[in-house]
Amino acid sequence: MAENKIWLSSPHMGGTEQKYVQEAFDTNWVAPLGPNVTGFEQDLEKYLKQDVHVAALSSGTAAIHLALVLLGIKPGDEVICQSMTFSASANPIMYVGATPVFVDSEPETWNMCPKSLEEAVADRIKQGKKPKAIIGVHLYGMPFKADEIKVIAAKYDIPVVEDSAEALGSTYKGQKCGTFGDIAILSFNGNKIITTSGGGALVAKDKAMKDKTVFLSTQARDNAPHYQHSEVGYNYRMSNICAGIGRGQMEVLEKHIGLRREMNQFYADLFKDNEHVTVFSEPGSDYKSNHWLSAILVDPKSGKTREDLRLELEKHNIESRPLWKPMHMQPIFEGYPYYGGNVAENLFENGLCLPSGSNLVSEDKERIANVLNSFF
Ligand SMILES: *Cc1c(COP(=O)(O)O)cnc(C)c1O
Repeated sequence: MAENKIWLSSPHMGGTEQKYVQEAFDTNWVAPLGPNVTGFEQDLEKYLKQDVHVAALSSGTAAIHLALVLLGIKPGDEVICQSMTFSASANPIMYVGATPVFVDSEPETWNMCPKSLEEAVADRIKQGKKPKAIIGVHLYGMPFKADEIKVIAAKYDIPVVEDSAEALGSTYKGQKCGTFGDIAILSFNGNKIITTSGGGALVAKDKAMKDKTVFLSTQARDNAPHYQHSEVGYNYRMSNICAGIGRGQMEVLEKHIGLRREMNQFYADLFKDNEHVTVFSEPGSDYKSNHWLSAILVDPKSGKTREDLRLELEKHNIESRPLWKPMHMQPIFEGYPYYGGNVAENLFENGLCLPSGSNLVSEDKERIANVLNSFF
């Protein structure tokens, strides 16, 4: 193991991040507010378009939590969530005391299956429990079937929370992910397409919702000279230091998306003639993925499993990881309702995420290609 570790996805600084952080120190804005927070929010609003209003927060998880608070979700309510996702999509349902109802994926985008979603909504309503929100996720940067999901949400008048934590820069029919939901969220954790070391954002449709988010995320202080509270508050605002990193990262976002997409093309070329491997790709021209992570499916009929491959890569100090284990298969969420078949289960069984960072160099790619070629 003399060779350096090749990571799945690691932070990639552009170079100007420290300038913004230095400014924060020079002006003593070392607090969860300041010019970088405002500037980063404006950068994101300009980037996402659609006249959205962005509130920078301490994490994507905090943003989902506040989205559910804003929607008035209460103990005993039910919230529908895509099963195939990271646990952070579903955990906030527990924070507000609600019950998660999980829905299977469809095989094209690996995201929420519209048919299973409608089946779930109709059945919950029949049981006297109309779901209060639908959490959809753009897995690995691949946009979910936004038109179909939104038609169902509108038909039953249920708000959509769009978990765009992995999809900053992806588009569906030319519109940026993060602008489809009634509320959307972003993440800037260390492994995401851009990072603030840790952080997130809530994308609101109007200024009133953004103002409410900022109010809730800064301890819900009423307008009074003393500390006065008439609502439960949270300490979820982004710091001005982290936001400085974010401003620098916004300057290289497009470039880094290009590099991630190149990584995906690298795998597509590599496996072009391999009948046992499918590279996760856009199902049509409506979809443009930032390809945050590149993933493959290994056909078990090949006699080799994705776990064999993971161990082989590990031997060469190359990180890879099985796809997200669906929430309905997780011990913590056992026993909650689930609608759909075994699409998500099969994806988990056969899928593997491969090194995808925008900072991988040609020697890294060569090492990866060598292991993959000799394995198959
Ligand atoms: C990373 C991630 C989150 C959580 O974001 P944090 O900033 O890490 O709290 C939520 N949902 C998905 C799908 C994610 O990948």
